[in-house]
Amino acid sequence: MEYNRCGKSGLLLPQISLGLWHNFGSVDNFENGENIVKEAFDKGITHFDLANNYGPIPGSAETNFGKILKNNFQGNLRDEMVIATKAGYKMWEGPYGEWGSRKYLVTSLNQSLKRMNLDYVDIFYSHRYDPNTPLEETMNALDYAVRSGKALYAGISNYPAEQTKQATEILQQLGTPCLIHQEKYSMFVRTCEEGLLDVLEDKGVGCIAFSPLAQGLLTDKYLKGIPENSRAFNPNGHLQLDEVSDAKVFKIVALNEIAKNRNQSLAQMALAWLLKDNRITSVLIGASSVGQLNNNIDSLQNLAFTPDELNEIEQILK
Ligand code: NDP
Repeated sequence: MEYNRCGKSGLLLPQISLGLWHNFGSVDNFENGENIVKEAFDKGITHFDLANNYGPIPGSAETNFGKILKNNFQGNLRDEMVIATKAGYKMWEGPYGEWGSRKYLVTSLNQSLKRMNLDYVDIFYSHRYDPNTPLEETMNALDYAVRSGKALYAGISNYPAEQTKQATEILQQLGTPCLIHQEKYSMFVRTCEEGLLDVLEDKGVGCIAFSPLAQGLLTDKYLKGIPENSRAFNPNGHLQLDEVSDAKVFKIVALNEIAKNRNQSLAQMALAWLLKDNRITSVLIGASSVGQLNNNIDSLQNLAFTPDELNEIEQILK
């Protein structure tokens, strides 16, 4: 595993990080999740990404991750890990259970620490921009999280470019620089190329790309229909059946041919394609098995693209 500097900070993150959005909830097989985390760490994936609401049920991914830590990562191993959590989406009923108020963020962080049985997380994120809360209040809450020792760094996720610029400036003034922005980025979702990546580079903030495989679309999974053991088929999965459209499959098949010529799986090529941009600190993958995890890690063996390959990919994605 290689480690990239996160923006202009002192923190290094692995090129591939592991997210626990799916496959780690109370509805999932605990042992499978535990094996994925253990394998990831053994392969040098030091960064694990959670959020208050990951499950289902919401909160259960953090509870399970706490158990995995207790079973396997006692003592100083915690110091070799970068654990992140977030608050922003709906977590509990009433007016204080979502968005960006100080009340919600600080309370939610306390709950997350309890569920994971941790003294602190390494990164605490505001999970989404809240248009109805002053940005100063949300950033103040992140600053407080860091100053109180409950988090080591502050991050933001899903913030548009302009609000990202403002947020980083406020955090800078508060003395808690924004470490990282977490944004959806894959061959299929490229919104961050329209300004956000430039802002992050300008401000020295790292970028971690989530759903880099478009929730599994950018793999060989859907080449021949929708298998039962897939996120699209799973009623708890966030990939909707209609997202596996004929037009998408047409592109997936064509991309798969390029990947084959590179002696890579499509998943490996999709990850390499993101990592070729040195503004991307890490790609934040999910995996439903140890096999998938290892397949994805092997993408690091070939990160280079020829101009012809890049052109061909652009033609397909157009
Ligand atoms: P991916 O795009 O990497 O999708 C992961 C899924 O793709 C797997 O669960 C599996 O699904 C399938 N897959 C993975 N590898 C392979 C492979 N080699 N071959 C075939 N299929 C494969 O990422 P996610 O959408 O899971 O997101 C990753 C992380 O990003 C989350 O866990 C979370 O931490 C973060 N995230 C953050 C968000 C935010 O708002 N900040 C929002 C969403 C995610 P299957 O079940 O079909 O096998």
